[in-house]
Amino acid sequence: MRAYVIGNVTVDETISISAMPEAGASILGHEETRDLGGKGANQAVVMGRAGLASILVAAVGDDFRSEIIRSQLAEEPVDARLVRFGGKASDFSIIFTTPDGENAIVTTTDSAGSLTLSEAIRPLAESASGDLVVLQGNLSDDVTRGILEEARRRQLVTAFNPSPLRRFFADLWPLIDIAFLNKGEAESLTGTCGQAAASTLISAGVKYAVLTLGGEGAMLASRAGTLEIPAATVTAIDTTGAGDTFMGTALASCALRGVPLDARAIRHASAAAAVTVSRRGTRSAFPTKAELHAILAA
Ligand code: ATP
Repeated sequence: MRAYVIGNVTVDETISISAMPEAGASILGHEETRDLGGKGANQAVVMGRAGLASILVAAVGDDFRSEIIRSQLAEEPVDARLVRFGGKASDFSIIFTTPDGENAIVTTTDSAGSLTLSEAIRPLAESASGDLVVLQGNLSDDVTRGILEEARRRQLVTAFNPSPLRRFFADLWPLIDIAFLNKGEAESLTGTCGQAAASTLISAGVKYAVLTLGGEGAMLASRAGTLEIPAATVTAIDTTGAGDTFMGTALASCALRGVPLDARAIRHASAAAAVTVSRRGTRSAFPTKAELHAILAA
């Protein structure tokens, strides 16, 4: 089985600050890391390191950041199919982190927003029924919906993380097999939280709904019922990429075992996300190949 991740790739600049600024404030900060990031790249890297064949389709510009992106992706077990846009800036994120482990992220989408549907779905011509298509919220509305419809035509399994959040995503549930939402996304897109949010997603056509609840753990819901899995106890230093590590690991865990999403996959995902939150940075904070293989063997 293969995973086609169709999403974004960025250069992440992480700046540590003492507290989140009020609107209008000027504050001092300290550059912590410059790292490969972007939700699409993050999830592709985690799945690749876990041992799943991982294909990343993402857009870049023709600037210095595209060189950073290419060279960092070349170090990863990911088949990167980058679509280059001349005259555009590659996407980047500015990430503010505070000493209590909180973060605020601004991501540009000049490149990701330019990806057309035909470029996005071209690699799916090689896919086989049952392969995964993994999406996040950085592409345009039409391209996001078009990819999901193409995946349905090809009998692929769709996994979706509606982040960054847009109201439009609430129209997509019938096209989604596996949805991963954090607390805020669940509340905004279902108007409710916890078990009620999970039930809303399942009633709308999602086969497996996973709600991640930060340090409180995660919930897995399907027509068969709901399971709550606690987070691993760890000192959170920087939560950037925790959700992507969680999603990538959960998908890899079940795909590599050839089973539907189960409690074991969520336990693997919690263990992997705990590693990510205990380190600074994005790609450099993710569990290594060896760490992921040990987690998936448990
Ligand atoms: P982010 O946007 O920071 O990448 P998210 O908002 O998408 O993350 P969260 O629900 O905050 O997602 O976290 C995802 C998973 O990461 C949680 O379900 C949990 O397993 C792990 N995690 C997050 N914060 C902590 C923490 N403080 N301690 C242990 N595990 C954590």
